[in-house]
Amino acid sequence: MLRTHTCGEVNEKLSGKNVTLAGWVDSLRIMSNMIFIDLRDRYGFVQCIIKKNHKDFEVAKKLTKESCVKIKGKVKKRLKANSNKSSGKIEIEMTDLKILSLSDKLPFDPKNVTEDIRLKYRYLDLRINPKLRKNIELRHNVIKFIRDYLDKEKFLEIQTPLLTKSSPEGARDFIVPSRIHPGSFYALPQSPQQYKQLLMVAGMDKYFQIAPCLRDEDPRADRSPGEFYQLDLEMSFVEQEDILNLIEKMLIKMVKTLLPDKKLTFEKIPRLSYEKCMKKYKTDKPDLRKNKKDKNELAFAWIVDFPLFEPELKEGCYAPMHHMFTMPKESDLKLLNKKDAGKVKSYQHDLVLNGFEVGGGSIRVHNPEIQKKIFELIGFDEDDKKYFEHMLTAFKYGVPPHGGIAPGIDRLLMVLLGEDSLREVIAFPKNKEAKDVMMGAPSFVKDIQLKEAHIKLDLPKKKVKKGK
Ligand code: ASP
Repeated sequence: MLRTHTCGEVNEKLSGKNVTLAGWVDSLRIMSNMIFIDLRDRYGFVQCIIKKNHKDFEVAKKLTKESCVKIKGKVKKRLKANSNKSSGKIEIEMTDLKILSLSDKLPFDPKNVTEDIRLKYRYLDLRINPKLRKNIELRHNVIKFIRDYLDKEKFLEIQTPLLTKSSPEGARDFIVPSRIHPGSFYALPQSPQQYKQLLMVAGMDKYFQIAPCLRDEDPRADRSPGEFYQLDLEMSFVEQEDILNLIEKMLIKMVKTLLPDKKLTFEKIPRLSYEKCMKKYKTDKPDLRKNKKDKNELAFAWIVDFPLFEPELKEGCYAPMHHMFTMPKESDLKLLNKKDAGKVKSYQHDLVLNGFEVGGGSIRVHNPEIQKKIFELIGFDEDDKKYFEHMLTAFKYGVPPHGGIAPGIDRLLMVLLGEDSLREVIAFPKNKEAKDVMMGAPSFVKDIQLKEAHIKLDLPKKKVKKGK
C-alpha cells in the first residue's frame, strides 16, 4: 500500500508516530516560510505542514488544489485545535512529499456551477462534494443491508439476461440489433418480470436481484431517464400479506439501522384501499407525514385493492393498472368480461413513501385460462399472444402460486435522503435530456459498426431556419 493510514484514521492517539498518507490537496496556503496543505481522502481531512528549509519545500510550491500527493510525516498535537474536523487536534509535520499527479485548475467553481457542468466532471463532483459521497455510501449500505437481510431469509440472488425479447406492453423498449441474426433484435429488459416468474416455475422459491431496468421513456422528474435500479423480488407459495410483511420488516429495520435520525410516522405500515385512498387524498400516492415539511419524517403506506384495469378509454378496451400478470381477486373472477372488467379488483400492492410511489408488485396469475382472458381483454391479437407463448407453455407444467414486488432503489434512496433529484443518489446519472454528458452518450457510431449490425440510417431531416 502507498499509505499506512487514511486521513480519517489519524488522531491524537497517533501523536509522535510517523504515518504515510495519500490523497488530494483540498486547500493550500503558501506562505514565505511555510506551506499548509489540507489533505483529503474518502475518510477525512488532515492538515499537513512543510517548512521553508525542508528539502521538498520547492516541490510543495508547485502544488495546485486537487493534486494527488503522498505525504510522510510525524503526527503532532496542534496548538490551536480545529473542532470542525475529526483530525482537528493534530497536524502532520511533513518529512517527505511526493506529487503523484498534479491537477489542472478546477474547471468549475463548486459554489457556482450548473448541473450539466457538474455532470460533465462527475468524477470531480464525487470527489469534492461530501454530500454526494455520503449518498453513494448510503446507497452501498442500503444494498448491502437488503442483500444480507434477504440472504438470511433464504432468498437467492439470481442474475437474469440483459439481452432479451421485445414485448408489446409497457414502455418503449431499447432495442439491440443482432449481428449474427440479421434483421433480428434483442430488447433490453424493462424489468425481469417474466424471468422472475419463470424462476418460480423453476422451483427457485425465493428470488431477488438488484436489477437494472431499461425503458425508453421520456425523462420524468422522479425517474432517471433510460435506466434505473429495482430491488426485484419474487416468492412462491405466498399470499399478498406475506410479501407486504417481508418488505415492511426489512425497510423498517433498515431505516432504524442505517438512518437512526429519521422519524418513522408508522412502525406498522398502514394498508389503504385504493378506493378509500382516492376518495380521501385524491391520489394513490398520499403523503401521510404528520409534518409535510419535515424531510426527516418518513411515512410509508401500502395501497391495496387496486382495480385490475385502468379506467376504460374506449368501451370494452382495457389496459392493466399494474401489468397483465396481476391476479384478479377470486371473488371478482366472474366479472372478467368485456362489460364488467372495469369493476374487477386485483392483488396489486404499491408502496408509497412521503407521497412518492417507491415500489409496486402483485400476486400473479398462475392459471393459464385467466391469463388468456386478460390478454383478450387487453386486446391482444394472435401475434401479441405469441410473444407470451413461453409463459403460457411454462404455466402448463405445474406453476406454483407466486407473487412479488420491485421497490425502486434510486427513488427509495432519493426520498430516504430527502433529496430533490434522483441524480443526487446515482454515481453517473444522465442529465435531464437523457444524455450522459461526461461520456458523450448517446453518440454516433462508425459506418462499419452500422454495417455489421445490418443497419442503414434514416435520420429525421434537420429543420432549416427560414431566411437563411
Ligand atoms: N416488474 C414490476 C415493475 O417493474 C414489479 C413487479 O410486479 O414485481 O413495476
